[in-house]
Amino acid sequence: MIRAAILAASALALAACNGAEVAGEEQVVLAPPAAAATPEVAPKPLPPLPVSSAPDADTKIGFVGELTQGGWIKGQVPADAVSVRLGEQELEVDQSGQFFAAFDRDAGSAAQLIALLPNGSTVKVPFTIKPREWNIQRVNVAKRGGGSSEAWWKKREPEWLAIKAAREKVTGATGWKQQFIWPVKGRISGHFGRQRIYRGEPGSYHSGIDIAPGNGVPFVAPADGVVVLARKGFSLEGNLIIIDHGAGLNSAFLHASKLAVTEGQSVTQGQYIGNVGSTGRSTGPHLHWGLKWNDARIDPLLLTGPQ
Ligand SMILES: [Zn+2]
Repeated sequence: MIRAAILAASALALAACNGAEVAGEEQVVLAPPAAAATPEVAPKPLPPLPVSSAPDADTKIGFVGELTQGGWIKGQVPADAVSVRLGEQELEVDQSGQFFAAFDRDAGSAAQLIALLPNGSTVKVPFTIKPREWNIQRVNVAKRGGGSSEAWWKKREPEWLAIKAAREKVTGATGWKQQFIWPVKGRISGHFGRQRIYRGEPGSYHSGIDIAPGNGVPFVAPADGVVVLARKGFSLEGNLIIIDHGAGLNSAFLHASKLAVTEGQSVTQGQYIGNVGSTGRSTGPHLHWGLKWNDARIDPLLLTGPQ
């Protein structure tokens, strides 16, 4: 039973541009950047929202962000707040009362921030997470079962555990407070959230954004952080870097041709960390950038804004 559960989790967690079920669509990476060849609908980022306050202005609870699936908020509570939750999830709050939270690709529409104040009172701020229309393709081919055999899992399990352990590391990084920048600019060859349905059976959705600036092009840290993983040769991800930005937020960079950082190293926003490549399960040179906040997979485009 445990094995089955891990396999199921693995299938979800590894839903990158590299899964067997989405390998085909990566052909687009090899296509010339013709203006007409842009069938994907770019998600339209919402304008930043004004700070929304609780009914009682004295509570000073507010937040800004992208209140949509795959989006995020940065907020402020009184520095002496006892705790802050997003629904059931306890948030990390820094000394000045700032916090970060995000919404999974499949998040429901109703959300609520709940702050417990030192005087024992509770302040609740309900809000709505706007659903998005994902790029979903229905194809009349059977879903491939690759990636579920015992032999495959024997090789995959230690990789999966290494990624999981890296993402659970708490480094105290504060990059989450910054305005994120693009790790590299270039043609977007795959948007976040797209998915194929194989004869009614959903494949894994695309868990990050694919940027195809060309093979070997350097990429940089989108925000300050600590390198919690920098290793070569993962069977799906290839050469992989994971950076913790603090507050539960981390970035993964897949398929690199070169790693320019080492585990444990602190990096600053804009610092060179590696080169774009096509290692692991990839059909052409590109950078897959995945962003996670705790268990939620979020859309990098909503943190950076358009290029
Ligand atoms: Zn990808």
